[in-house]
Amino acid sequence: MKTEKFEVIIIGGSYSGLSAAMALGRALRKVLVVDAGRPANRFAPHSHNFITHDGSTPAQIAAIAREQVQKYESIQLKTGVVARIEARHRPEFEISLEGGLKYSARKIILATGIIDLLPGIPGFAECWGKTVLHCPYCHGYEVHNTKTGILGNGDYAFEFGALISNWTNDLRIYTNGISTLTAEQTSTLTRHKIAIVEERVKDLSHTGGSIQRINFENGMSENISTLYSKPPFVQQSQLLSQLGCELTDEGYIKVDQFQKTTIPGVFACGDNATKIRTVANAVSLGTTAGIMTNKELIFEDFN
Ligand code: FAD
Ligand code: MG
Repeated sequence: MKTEKFEVIIIGGSYSGLSAAMALGRALRKVLVVDAGRPANRFAPHSHNFITHDGSTPAQIAAIAREQVQKYESIQLKTGVVARIEARHRPEFEISLEGGLKYSARKIILATGIIDLLPGIPGFAECWGKTVLHCPYCHGYEVHNTKTGILGNGDYAFEFGALISNWTNDLRIYTNGISTLTAEQTSTLTRHKIAIVEERVKDLSHTGGSIQRINFENGMSENISTLYSKPPFVQQSQLLSQLGCELTDEGYIKVDQFQKTTIPGVFACGDNATKIRTVANAVSLGTTAGIMTNKELIFEDFN
C-alpha cells in the first residue's frame, strides 16, 4: 500500500492542533490532522475565559474550529489514533494509525495535550470538570463565595490556598493524610482563616457530578460545593519516546520560543508544552507552531 505524503502532519486536532492547521491551510500547505477526539476539557459542561466563546461548551468551540479549518482545501482531518511515529527516513517522518494506515510528512506538530491521572477517590472522576476543578480562571467565577475545599498538600496546597482565597472566604484545605505544609505556611493559612484538615478522604458524595460532601475514613463528613485539585499528568509518552523529544523537569515537552522541540522538524503546542493551561493559550501556541513550521519549510526550499 502506498503511503500518502503530506507536508505537515498534526497529531491532535483539538484547539491547539486546529489552530496550527488553520495557519498552515492559509499558507496553502498540504496538511493531515489526526485526532482521537479526547480533549482534556471534555468533562466540563462549559468553557470560560476564551474571548468570543465565554460559556460555550467545549464541543461547540471544537465544532466551529473544525468547520473553519475544513474550508481550507489542502487540509485533511482524520479521526484516529497515531500509534507509531518513525523518523527513520528523515526528513520524512512516517506515522502509523491504530489499524495500520500510514502517512508521511516532512514536519510534525505534536498537539497531543496531556492526560490527567485522576485519583481513585470514589466520586472524584464523576465531579471532575463540574464541581471538582483544576483552575479558578476557567471556573472560579461561577462558584465564587461557595463552600470550597482544596484537595492537596505541601506547596501546592499553600499556593492554591492563597490563590483560591481570591474567590471565596469559605475555604479549607484537605491534605488527605499528614500535612506536609511548613510551619510558616500553616501559620499564614491560619491567619487567613483557612483550616487544614488532615483526615484521610474516603469518597465524595455527589448528585450527577455536583459535589455535596467530602467523607473521611474516620466516619466524619463535611459539606462542600466546590473542590479544587491538581492531579498529576502524563504525556502521550509512546510517541515522545519514539521521537526522542526531551521533556522539562516538570514533564512538559521542551520547546523554544518558536515551539520547536529538541528534535529537528518536530514542533509541539498546547497543553503538552505549557503550564498555562487554557484554550486561549493552546490556540495561541498552535498558531505560532503553524507559522513557524511553514517558515521552516519555506527556508528549506528557498535556496
Ligand atoms: P486537548 O484539547 O487536550 O486535545 C488534545 C487532542 O489530541 C485530543 O483530542 C486527543 O484525543 C488528541 N490526541 C492525543 N494523542 C493522540 C494520538 N496519539 N493520536 C491522535 N490524537 C491524539 N481552559 C479554558 O480556557 N477554559 C475552561 O473553562 C477550561 N476548562 C477545563 C476543564 C477541564 C476539566 C480541564 C481538564 C481543562 C480545562 N481547560 C479550560 C483547559 C483546556 O481544556 C486545555 O488547555 C485545552 O484543551 C488544551 O488544548 P490542546 O489542543 O493542547 O489539548
Ligand atoms: Mg478539506
